[in-house]
Amino acid sequence: MKTIGYAAQSATSKLAPFHFERRAPRATDVAIEILYCGVCHSDLHAARNDWGGSVYPCVPGHEIVGRVTAIGADVTRHAVGDHVAVGCLVDSCLQCDQCHHDEEQYCRHGYTGTYNSPDRINGENTLGGYARHIVVREAFVLRLDNRLDLARTGPLLCAGITSYSPLRRWNAGPGSRIGVAGLGGLGHMAVKLAAAMGAHVTVLSRTADKLADALALGADELLVSGDTEAMAKAANRFDLIIDTVPVKHDINPYLPLLDIDGTLVIVGQVGTLPEPSTVPMIFGRRRIAGSLIGGIAETQEMLDFCARKNIHPDVEMIRMDQINEAFERMERADVRYRFVIDMASLPAPQAG
Ligand code: NAP
Ligand code: ZN
Repeated sequence: MKTIGYAAQSATSKLAPFHFERRAPRATDVAIEILYCGVCHSDLHAARNDWGGSVYPCVPGHEIVGRVTAIGADVTRHAVGDHVAVGCLVDSCLQCDQCHHDEEQYCRHGYTGTYNSPDRINGENTLGGYARHIVVREAFVLRLDNRLDLARTGPLLCAGITSYSPLRRWNAGPGSRIGVAGLGGLGHMAVKLAAAMGAHVTVLSRTADKLADALALGADELLVSGDTEAMAKAANRFDLIIDTVPVKHDINPYLPLLDIDGTLVIVGQVGTLPEPSTVPMIFGRRRIAGSLIGGIAETQEMLDFCARKNIHPDVEMIRMDQINEAFERMERADVRYRFVIDMASLPAPQAG
């Protein structure tokens, strides 16, 4: 099927219209017309090749919401006309212990990403959700409860699950004290979700300018990470800190904020960080951990939780042709708190 999207042709080129072909649905595939796609900081990292290994043309986008237009012969979970969603994963081996434990993101044979991954069957580079259409294996397509507002649901598929998974893993709930470092796309979802779970939530931001927003999102307080006096007073205050900062940064100021047995979960910077001191780890059994998105079953659980509790991201809707400006604004942390692309703004695919 012919479709149109926006692609980066190199690490230095801007995203521009790109006409390409989506495969015909295989027996277990679902064909989706994309209605909305969220803009994740990872899309920017991939387009610019910040992590190395980007393949061009690169069509980013893994916060996808759409409507089913066709299904393969063996599809049982989805029907034509259903509203569905796709996140960061479009395939995995489904055979290994991790896949059997519903943790496809840690598949022993490597998961297939929604973009920038070789397709498991034909080896072609996957192209993501900044496009009119996508074709995805049904096991990786999520159901959407009709209480969810489609225009604001996309960011749950990455920002939502990446926050939800560590909150669940480290038992966030009434009485737990959670810090969220970086109030951006992931951070604002971490605040909403942790607050909905009943936790006491503190935002750790570079700036006090976000205080009113933080409180409106459900946080109890905001701590300015550069305020050394306030940071010293906050020693031993948290059970869990979710660190969403997207660049190389010093985590040493955060570690003493954890209580004994507390955990700093890094979800932002993929790569290296300046050396962490072992002192707060040894003198307090504190831990540094990481976490990658979440599995498909947990993503469905998170979507259902958000539908039940009426949790939606705060979004700014953009046209597809505003994506380059949106990337620049995201780099300046000038988004409150997630851009979503309205795919109706894309021209129709070229005929013939
Ligand atoms: P985002 O919307 O740009 O938010 C990042 C926030 O971090 C900003 O709002 C800002 O908050 C803070 N920040 C930005 N630049 C900073 C700097 N130079 N120094 C210190 N703080 C800075 O990004 P996002 O979409 O939430 O993504 C965050 C990171 O998570 C990205 O690196 C992304 O690739 C990664 N990610 C990881 C996973 C995973 O599975 N682990 C999934 C999705 C995304 P303040 O202004 O409040 O300080
Ligand atoms: Zn993402």
